[in-house]
Amino acid sequence: PHVSAVIEGLCATVTDYPKPGIVFQDLTPVFANGPALKQVVDAIVCAFAGKFDAVAGVEARGFLLAAAAAYATGTGVITIRKAGKLPREVLSESYSLEYGEATLELHQGDVPAGTRVLILDDVLATGGTLGAAAALLERTGAVVAGVGVVLEIDGLPGRDNLAGHEVLSLLHV
Ligand code: 5GP
Repeated sequence: PHVSAVIEGLCATVTDYPKPGIVFQDLTPVFANGPALKQVVDAIVCAFAGKFDAVAGVEARGFLLAAAAAYATGTGVITIRKAGKLPREVLSESYSLEYGEATLELHQGDVPAGTRVLILDDVLATGGTLGAAAALLERTGAVVAGVGVVLEIDGLPGRDNLAGHEVLSLLHV
């Protein structure tokens, strides 16, 4: 079956998580399924073949995809983490959530200027998270080669927050 059907079949929809009114798309069954994980990672890597030199993952679920995609292509992983987790000098980028703010960080100097970086995460919703990740990479002098997610929630401004970047979503809900 097509990768979108595989994801749709395994994804668990959880209502009122983490807060009342939110419908959470839980992709852990996709990660836990060997053939599905391979199909997902292969589809992302194939779509951006030859266009990237490194893969960035956004903590924490993006790390799973980024490590697999990097290993599959012999490239390295760049870790984009939540505030306070990286031990050396960082660049920080804050963005708004539905309630409040969040901050992502990237080590300064870990990405050589001009590196073409593919950014991966599990879900694209409002685009705040991936928009901040892209901004961090660009501030270090990297080039955003593209953005890949397993699932995109339609009807939100996710793509507007990633204007100018190629965005691949394997499933839209
Ligand atoms: P955004 O910043 O685009 O609004 O939200 C995307 C970020 O929040 C991603 O890092 C993603 O892991 C997490 N996220 C938001 N909504 C969901 C969801 O329904 N399911 C999962 N698995 N993650 C979500």
